[in-house]
Amino acid sequence: MGLTMSWSKSMLSNTKESLHKNDSIDKIVTLAGNPNVGKSTLFNKLTGLNQHTGNWAGKTVGGAEGYYKSKKYNYLLIDIPGTYSLIAHSREEKVAGDFICFSGGDAVVVVCDATCLERNLNLVLQISELSKKVIVCVNLMDEAQRRGISVNLPLLSERLSMTVVGTSAGKHGGTKNLEAILDKAVEAENKKPLKIEYTQEIERAICLLEPTVRAVVGETINSRWVAIRLLSGETDILKEAEKQLSLNILDDSQIKSTLETALTGLHKIGFDIQKIRDTIAATLISKAQKLTEGVVGFSHNKSKSPISKLDKILTGKFTAYPIMLLLLGLIFWLTISGANYPSELLSKLFSWLGGYLSKAVLFLDAPSWLHGLLIDGIYKVVSWVVAVMLPPMAIFFPFFTILEDSGYLSRIAYNFDKLFKSCSACGKQALTMCMGGFMVFLHPR
Ligand code: GDP
Repeated sequence: MGLTMSWSKSMLSNTKESLHKNDSIDKIVTLAGNPNVGKSTLFNKLTGLNQHTGNWAGKTVGGAEGYYKSKKYNYLLIDIPGTYSLIAHSREEKVAGDFICFSGGDAVVVVCDATCLERNLNLVLQISELSKKVIVCVNLMDEAQRRGISVNLPLLSERLSMTVVGTSAGKHGGTKNLEAILDKAVEAENKKPLKIEYTQEIERAICLLEPTVRAVVGETINSRWVAIRLLSGETDILKEAEKQLSLNILDDSQIKSTLETALTGLHKIGFDIQKIRDTIAATLISKAQKLTEGVVGFSHNKSKSPISKLDKILTGKFTAYPIMLLLLGLIFWLTISGANYPSELLSKLFSWLGGYLSKAVLFLDAPSWLHGLLIDGIYKVVSWVVAVMLPPMAIFFPFFTILEDSGYLSRIAYNFDKLFKSCSACGKQALTMCMGGFMVFLHPR
């Protein structure tokens, strides 16, 4: 227990062997998972450390490591940044992805959120394609129970062919289940490894490419995983693999020519790189969906709850846009017309105060240029800006906050996502556009 070490990207170069150099360490276990699934809480409870890992952009990308002693082994636990995917979209994801791919240790514990298991299983599936020993830790079981969500852990374990354990890390003694199975789980021989079957077209291309890749990489890295990355053009992670594992994948002439043949075959049937990536992502999503069928249950009918009924209307095909336009239009109207009254009052107040200030400056025998500068310049401009800008802001932003806190803003982002994606943007940008729209409305004032 105890002791922590600052952990950074440079640690990626640590291979399993070098991490094992410390003789007192028997097993190295990596904790992975989506952000906010309770990974740090679990890590802190197991290691006795009070460490927090930042998962947001802008914060130093780092993880933590600490020791945990079980009845049998001394563990080195490595808490990596939260990530949704092994394929990097942010610096945090790159660090996490690279670490799992090339220095995963003896086992990877993928921490999942029991309240949204399906979404979390996507990462489990991605990691299982690469790591030999994956333990699934379904955390926040208490929260799931509170919301009437049940998770059939034995059934999930059977479907995944992996050790699955439920925890409530936030609660006192909530990590006991994981502690009880960890020794056994890291020792256990892998059962039948989970194989994710992609569509026929992709599988054919993988079958063509994989033997050539295997001939080059041998047992150093999973050849099927490398073949899939090659087909989907994810060269960054392969370059990292070459660096970390001293391999030559991208420049190997055999791999290059087989890849070209596989890609030409796929292009002929309409699969460009984007379609290959989308098909792979869609397969993982539908696999995660199938895995949770019958595993996750709701004690009350989710689809009949008032919130989900409202959700259906707010994000419906024909209802979403009119409601959105009406609601935003109403807020703009309330802001613009409602702000007129306080604006007028403020303006009267400032001009009344300005009269006295002007008299005071003249009383002090100030030269006319100073009077002009202070009263006609600085005071009038500042008071005008405050009178015009403050009331609409004081009305608009509380309304916007209500929309945000009620969850409606995220639904607006969802509604706009498809439209924005068609011009290579993202639905979330709708919110900055709403703000922009507000400023445009405000401008004529
Ligand atoms: P991380 O981003 O995955 O490292 O998540 P954190 O460990 O920072 O946890 C996110 C939040 O979930 C914190 O407020 C924790 O207190 C809370 N939390 C973690 N585990 C549990 C749990 O099992 N049950 C409940 N109810 N809350 C939890």
